[in-house]
Amino acid sequence: MKILFYDATSYDVDSFDRELFQYEGIEITYQETDISLKTVSLAQGYDAICAFVNSDLSAPVIEKLHEMGISLILMRCAGFNNVDLNKTKEYGMTILRVPGYSPEAVAEHAMTLALAVNRHLHKSYIKVRENNFSLVGLTGVNFYQKTAGIIGTGKIGAAMCRICKGFGMRVIAYDMYPNKNLDFVEYMPLEEVLKQSDLISLHCPLTKETKHIINKDSIAMMRENVILVNTSRGALVKTEDLIQGIRSGKFFGVGLDVYEEEGNNVFENREDEMLEHSVTARLLSFPNVIVTSHQGFLTKEALAAISQTTLQNALDYEKGQITEANLVTA
Ligand code: NAD
Repeated sequence: MKILFYDATSYDVDSFDRELFQYEGIEITYQETDISLKTVSLAQGYDAICAFVNSDLSAPVIEKLHEMGISLILMRCAGFNNVDLNKTKEYGMTILRVPGYSPEAVAEHAMTLALAVNRHLHKSYIKVRENNFSLVGLTGVNFYQKTAGIIGTGKIGAAMCRICKGFGMRVIAYDMYPNKNLDFVEYMPLEEVLKQSDLISLHCPLTKETKHIINKDSIAMMRENVILVNTSRGALVKTEDLIQGIRSGKFFGVGLDVYEEEGNNVFENREDEMLEHSVTARLLSFPNVIVTSHQGFLTKEALAAISQTTLQNALDYEKGQITEANLVTA
């Protein structure tokens, strides 16, 4: 099977090449550019493409893939909200993903963001480098005995619940399907989680129901000085409303690994560009906001697991033995 691997970075190449020898018959060509209407034709002659979280897999791109006879899309990630599933279904294409590579990697990053904004690490790092050893402006709060509210307690949310419990926090959660393994978690309606939490961490997928789940109404329900962390998908949060909330002083801190406008930024070096009109620039202007570039998944363990599952998905597809749990359906 010949796979065109879009949006390849050095760490992708390293981790896939390390595993590839174990998957006989699979050939990968790495392509630095991501898939788009302009670059989709590069996939001519391949059997499958491999894509990532922000790859453009909209209807027109899917149409071109279909025209070129490509019927397999290997997503090297868990999320698939960027794939037009109606189109892939219409053309009978198969989408395989990596549903759970290392939930702890993402949950640990969520807690990293929460701790960093709480203890102002982003400021103290700079201050000390400038020989400013003053502690003014660096006061945080204890997480111990505070309430963590987890929205979505699947694999990553469950890992975050366990981390918060380890910090001695009371853990409350909202999910339509409570996780029976989390006997220390108190499930309650979303409104109650919003009202009672000192730390809110988002771990539900982006769906029609969850789009803008954090908006001006839900922000109004939150406690004053709440810490909000989003490592799930940017559009869970209505950014304009978040910005209003930050301006009004509602948040002690906000940690975002994902945000609505991230598409053009994620994994790109835009050092020389002016971002002054963008939402990113506005978010970055607040002293109590830390933004990272969708790096929650980025640990050695997670990368190894992503490569193994993606390659296994390719092999299983060839053998006609797809793992149901990895199959994306409309
Ligand atoms: P999962 O499918 O194991 O869990 C998702 C949970 O959300 C499920 O328990 C589900 O019942 C719940 N849910 C669905 N709709 C909900 C709603 N309306 N309200 C509350 N809960 C709802 O998924 P996961 O592996 O834990 O991943 C969660 C999300 O994390 C993914 O969808 C993806 O967007 C994101 N993610 C981010 C990164 C990163 O690098 N930042 C990496 C991997 C995944």
